[in-house]
Amino acid sequence: MLKTTVAGSLPKPSWLAEPEKLWAPWKLEGEELWQGQCDAALIWIKTQEDAGIDIVSDGEQFRKHFVHGFLEFVDGIDWAKMTTMGIRDNRYDADVPTVTAKISRRESAHGKSTAFCREHANGGLKITMPGPMTICDTIADEVYGKRADMAWAFAEILNEEALELQALGVDVIQFDEPAFNVFLDDVKEWGVACLNRAFQGITTKKAVHICYGYGIDANNQWKETLGNEWRQYEETFPALNDSVVDQVSLECAGSHVPHSLMSLLKDKEVMVGSIDVANLNVETPEQVAEVIRSAMRYVDAERIYPCTNCGLAPFPRHVAEGKLKALAAGAAIVRKELGAA
Ligand code: ZN
Repeated sequence: MLKTTVAGSLPKPSWLAEPEKLWAPWKLEGEELWQGQCDAALIWIKTQEDAGIDIVSDGEQFRKHFVHGFLEFVDGIDWAKMTTMGIRDNRYDADVPTVTAKISRRESAHGKSTAFCREHANGGLKITMPGPMTICDTIADEVYGKRADMAWAFAEILNEEALELQALGVDVIQFDEPAFNVFLDDVKEWGVACLNRAFQGITTKKAVHICYGYGIDANNQWKETLGNEWRQYEETFPALNDSVVDQVSLECAGSHVPHSLMSLLKDKEVMVGSIDVANLNVETPEQVAEVIRSAMRYVDAERIYPCTNCGLAPFPRHVAEGKLKALAAGAAIVRKELGAA
């Protein structure tokens, strides 16, 4: 009960890429890069397991960015044609590649790295990929015309990848959809349908992560415009409760999300964000326990998976390590209270 897990990303070691920076370029190349990524993943699998995290991730050590790490293996995308685009409803500008032909999966994106992690992780292993809507909000389109159509095409190739990763024995397949907190009508009109398509035929745990973004300045400023109560989830959770996903990962710690919104996910497991990604302070185990207890007012403990609000990639390594330990220790406190230690 109260098995702990992470949203996904963790800091890159300084010898692999510049720390505390998103989209940082690699410091190695070729075979050396692959070896360095494997070493970094090993460090984080061990660190997560030592901290007491039950379902670990590769910390996204094999990808530069959570979206483009998949897109690099997709044909139909012109990486020389970079377009500056306002993403997440113009919250910030990013240089993104352009879709210039119908897309297809050239080769496996995460198969090799996932097989490596499966070999070394002792317990649960989660693999994360960008969701169809979030991909379409992070790439320019010259082919499909309608975002919903391009998202469906991505859902089909994400599904090919997901089926391959399932066969490798991962325990959780998660799609990251921060765009679900931005385009609320689109989520209901086609976002959840595309998510269902991406999960077609998947029998391992199916998860979706919906957050308010990394703790970077542009996101922190956006959050200040959202008012005292962040009710975006209220719009989308009913549709998600009707979807094929098993688990929904949401942001709770240190945010203005009313915890009562979790009651809209009555048929799902809930990954309760109990670690804040917007500040450098490492939570105490008791603070984590308090978030979990609050969630238990709306979700049975059997359906709760304490988690981080979002990825920890932008943090200094010791902060991320501290937060992982606090997460596991906080869950242990509540487990003990429930007599399930
Ligand atoms: Zn996130």
